[in-house]
Amino acid sequence: MAEASTVSTPTTDSPDAPAAGRSVLVTGGNRGIGLAIAQAFRANGDKVAVTSRSGEAPDGLFAVQADVTDAESVDRAFTEVEEAHGPVEVLVANAGITRDQLLLRMSEEDFSAVIDTNLTGAFRVLKRASKGMIRKKKGRVVLISSVVGLMGSPGQINYASSKAGLVGMARSLTRELGSRNITANVVAPGYIDTEMTQSLGEDLQKQYRSQIPAGRFAEPAEVANVVRWLASDEASYISGAVIPVDGGLGMGH
Ligand code: NDP
Repeated sequence: MAEASTVSTPTTDSPDAPAAGRSVLVTGGNRGIGLAIAQAFRANGDKVAVTSRSGEAPDGLFAVQADVTDAESVDRAFTEVEEAHGPVEVLVANAGITRDQLLLRMSEEDFSAVIDTNLTGAFRVLKRASKGMIRKKKGRVVLISSVVGLMGSPGQINYASSKAGLVGMARSLTRELGSRNITANVVAPGYIDTEMTQSLGEDLQKQYRSQIPAGRFAEPAEVANVVRWLASDEASYISGAVIPVDGGLGMGH
């Protein structure tokens, strides 16, 4: 797990500084990549809220309870964040699950559960966040996809489908709301050192590492810094893009 100290902190006269103080919401921000993203925005001086299903606040962050599979729960969480920090200006849809199984053995329930969390969950938070962004004529959306969404992966038809869908979501949003100073981008991480990858056996981890040109898994902060930059004024003309953070694993897509 990356610590806050590994996240680079812009100085007050850096180009990121004027954007600080924004209301930022990171779904699934209580651990793993989401927590590193939340820490990166906090280091930037933004007002950060994280969601988790338990609602527990990690490391002094402002946390709200939300299950992204439930639109009412999402709505309640946004209302709480708006009361505390104002309308959400930066949305990072990061919450995600896996339920790996080979196609012939994959149940429809396992397929639907992953789509419901990873893809429809992103739709729910995006829809709720867009109201405030349209009103404010300003917004940054970053959807956390995966290298697997573009490369495919055996045993992950549900997960890869959900992550590929996020690309269409960001691009459609860009076409729908791009003229209102709202950008939507996708970050596609490769293998990142979190609970999700630690649950893979040592042999599988070794096999995956051998396929990565960088020869290693990444720290969550290496994803977080890219997300923070995409939401900064420096990236104001980037929208509908898919930014790989994968050590070269997915080159060519
Ligand atoms: P973790 O398993 O460590 O964390 C997943 C997060 O998602 C948790 O905060 C969890 O909250 C939240 N979450 C899951 N289901 C729901 C739900 N129904 N409602 C609200 N929150 C939910 O994952 P990572 O940090 O590894 O991954 C974060 C994102 O990055 C995911 O979308 C993942 O697919 C993607 N990714 C990860 C890679 C990796 O190598 N680790 C590679 C590429 C992409 P709770 O604590 O409540 O369970």
